[in-house]
Amino acid sequence: MLKIIENSEVFWTQKPLEASQIKKINNYPIFLPKQTHSDIVEFVSEYKDSSIYADALITSSTSFFIGVKTADCVPVLIIGDSMVGVVHAGWRGLVQSIVFKTLEKMDELGCNIKHIFVGAHICKNCYEVGQDVVDNLPGYYREERYLKTAISGKYFLDLFSMVCHQIEIFNPLIKIEHIGKYTCCNNDLFYSYRKEKTQKRNLWAIRLINKEF
Ligand SMILES: [Zn+2]
Repeated sequence: MLKIIENSEVFWTQKPLEASQIKKINNYPIFLPKQTHSDIVEFVSEYKDSSIYADALITSSTSFFIGVKTADCVPVLIIGDSMVGVVHAGWRGLVQSIVFKTLEKMDELGCNIKHIFVGAHICKNCYEVGQDVVDNLPGYYREERYLKTAISGKYFLDLFSMVCHQIEIFNPLIKIEHIGKYTCCNNDLFYSYRKEKTQKRNLWAIRLINKEF
């Protein structure tokens, strides 16, 4: 699927397509990092197919897409006036503030961030986590807005609220647009590791069409 948002184009796969089948989008190559649930944010100025370790990429180039692969983690696509960014945000990356750090780096590089598109991820009603995850959350992410405790003693974590929190503390005026679909509850459209234990991944990518000055 291809969607124009401001001065960028956002692309994502839907079933049966999956990330490994997509080599180019409209003849543009896709720069994909090696994802490790880290807080590493890299600015990339030119396309390379031997990739780098990162969970967020930023570019000001219009000649390639930057992308991430997900299957329940949150894909965050950032549109600025002179750059675009993409983040793979799972609970480990969010605990390390990866969304906030990406926005901060774009800002330091002189980019004015305007709009954020959030793709399909596991929803807050399906994402059950264990005590091991809860033990790793800072106190502010154990609040009710992010973490719900069911009567059964189970915990449910809201990754999207964690993403929104990091955007809002950076700048509450940035427009946040959610795709409105989830890997778990729209499993006919998206791959979900939790639901299917699949090795297949959804691809989320973004390209800057032109710089606005
Ligand atoms: Zn769900």
